[in-house]
Amino acid sequence: MNGYLKVRDECAVCAQELHHQRADDGPAYVTILVAGHLLAPLMLIVFELYRPDPLVLTVGFSIVFIAMALYLLPRIKGAFVGLQWAKRMHGFAKV
Ligand SMILES: [Zn+2]
Repeated sequence: MNGYLKVRDECAVCAQELHHQRADDGPAYVTILVAGHLLAPLMLIVFELYRPDPLVLTVGFSIVFIAMALYLLPRIKGAFVGLQWAKRMHGFAKV
């Protein structure tokens, strides 16, 4: 990666061309899928155990969700590019 989400044109170590990766919306979709499925049951558990004020529950889980999404997004994007490389998709086949 070059910055937070920009994929480098080529690998700094082995010069593998990466400019033809096509992660598109996939990483965002999987990030929401994973974070949502982890936090939705947790939200129910917290609500049943502690009955917090709805505003506290909303703000608290929003902060946790945003933090989790920001942490997961670049890692899942890297996994997408790695999967495309491993499957020889989108121009990774040549050479
Ligand atoms: Zn490399």
